[in-house]
Amino acid sequence: MAISRLQPLFLLLLLRAFTSLPTQAAARGGQDPSEDGGHGSFSRNLLEDKPRITEEMARGYMSNAELETAIHAFGSRCSNISRVYSIGKSVNHFPLWVIEISDKPREREAEPAFKFIGNVHGDEPVGREVLMRLANWLCDNYLKDPLATLIVENIHLHILPAMNPDGFTLRWRGNANNIDLNRDFPDQFFSVNNDVNHRQPETKAIMDWVKQEHFTASASLHGGALVANYPWDGTRDTGKRYYGCPDDKIFKHMASVYSQSHYNMSLSKEFEGGITNGAFWYPIYGGMQDWNYIHGGCFELTLEISDTKWPKAAELPVIWEHNRMSMLNLLASLIKSGVHGRIFAADTGRPIPGSVMIMGIDSKVSAGRTFGDYHRIVAPVVASMRGFRSKSTRIVLEQDQAVSLDFILDPDGTREQMKLPQNDWGCHCNNHKLFHIHESHLWMYLLTMSLLLTLYVLFKRKMASRLLTYRIYSPRRPVAV
Ligand SMILES: [Zn+2]
Repeated sequence: MAISRLQPLFLLLLLRAFTSLPTQAAARGGQDPSEDGGHGSFSRNLLEDKPRITEEMARGYMSNAELETAIHAFGSRCSNISRVYSIGKSVNHFPLWVIEISDKPREREAEPAFKFIGNVHGDEPVGREVLMRLANWLCDNYLKDPLATLIVENIHLHILPAMNPDGFTLRWRGNANNIDLNRDFPDQFFSVNNDVNHRQPETKAIMDWVKQEHFTASASLHGGALVANYPWDGTRDTGKRYYGCPDDKIFKHMASVYSQSHYNMSLSKEFEGGITNGAFWYPIYGGMQDWNYIHGGCFELTLEISDTKWPKAAELPVIWEHNRMSMLNLLASLIKSGVHGRIFAADTGRPIPGSVMIMGIDSKVSAGRTFGDYHRIVAPVVASMRGFRSKSTRIVLEQDQAVSLDFILDPDGTREQMKLPQNDWGCHCNNHKLFHIHESHLWMYLLTMSLLLTLYVLFKRKMASRLLTYRIYSPRRPVAV
């Protein structure tokens, strides 16, 4: 029906009706009922003439060039706790700049890594502005504010202010190819995005990044609602209902940390406690958070941090203040709770990239390649690695108390037949050909073996005492199994 034929009164009623619709179309995208390809909020945009986002609305927001300058200025000003790098380029070749914040930003450490991603949707620019404020706040308050210091010293925080710079310039939802990036990831139920050749460069950059960096948790920032959204995002039969992932309780906790620390998110009338399961709100497929959890072992939230998708720039300082403690507490919760530790091979004493899981929860968290370190938001009870016997334990967690739990796994004898992954400190010690025995040299072999056995016992004792020392001086409460 052509809108121009509608009578003014009916138009007004229609507008009111649309304005009272849930804001779902504005946020993660949902089944956008508008016919324009889903570039915006149905309620606000249907009756507007193009361009929907006026020059006046854009005033006060950083352009992409200004954002790039701000990122590099930050890198220079705060070079002691940051490094700037790019994870790829957008369709229109704009670099996807990331700021890493840590007291040792150029080093790998056995610490959890967290990522914040802003501006996934081009017409939701609040995240990119808020994330630059977060970076600057951490830099300004490091060694002055205990929370800032805690975060900088114990986490590697990676901030990608704009995942979709082209969409921002075009002032629409998708990227330059008009693709919604939060629908472009491989999906667990449907194979629509499985063709890697059709993957958007921005999506591919994120996927490569997640494989590279071993993130413990993350959050992407959106606008159009005020709620912390957690997996799953979709259901197998596309039905709209609550569909929790194996770590549902942990995700609820993470989402609540955000909403409860927010100025008014938890007071929401639409979302109980200011949090929601994605599929319960409205199912989406090909979303970023489910992919992160399934393929990256990364616990990702989708945060809707502003009721309005593109508010006036004058509101940005208030929106930042409303979200500041939420962001800081979410980061601090990684350090203050959960279990952190490393996995070692008993025979070599070297860290190994095994994995940990919680009994009864069908999800694994991998340990890092360099240090064999793992960071689980709750207690793991089984550590495993091909070629080693699994070990399990029970530990008691206290509230707001992190636990350090190292595993030393015994080889199960099958390791020689398989190629072990190499960690950065180790080597492929393929020494099964070192002792080729001739019958006449049997006595020499026996002598060598007994000598090696003695050395091994001595080495093992020394290793045990070294590990014990490490545990005693570990800052967190350690448990060894
Ligand atoms: Zn969005």
